[in-house]
Amino acid sequence: STCKSPASLTPELTEGPYFKANSPERASLLEAGTAGTKLVLSGSVFTTDCQPVAHALLDFWQADANGQYDNTGYTLRGHQYTDAAGHYQLTTVVPGLYPGRTEHIHLKVQAPGGPIITSQLFFPGVPNNSEDGIFDPKMLLTVQETSDGLTATFDFVVKTK
Ligand code: FE
Repeated sequence: STCKSPASLTPELTEGPYFKANSPERASLLEAGTAGTKLVLSGSVFTTDCQPVAHALLDFWQADANGQYDNTGYTLRGHQYTDAAGHYQLTTVVPGLYPGRTEHIHLKVQAPGGPIITSQLFFPGVPNNSEDGIFDPKMLLTVQETSDGLTATFDFVVKTK
């Protein structure tokens, strides 16, 4: 991995108004008819001394490709746990823009027994990044274009107690 000890904790960024508890457990947020550019995001959860964190909780929520959140159901919402090697993979779509914000994916990440970090992930090269008061370059995904959309990587760093 690229984790270098001592690693900085994942920065906390505002939850915003659209979090919903009790998202379904699933690694893919794609459903029949989900529109948009496919995004496969993967990475690891580490401690500050770069030990992988198994069974860390990752809860993702985002706007759809048109910038709309599902506030009645759980479309484009889901949680998962890292595997024994601290690894996760999320399959989703690139979120759309909505007024006042740049492209972003919300998340909560938590080691077993540790504190919850609430944050947001961002996409490189989006012009709105520089206009967004929440944007944090430390939360930029590393993105590659593929024949089937985008692949992206991001590693999180959390406290374990
Ligand atoms: Fe949002």
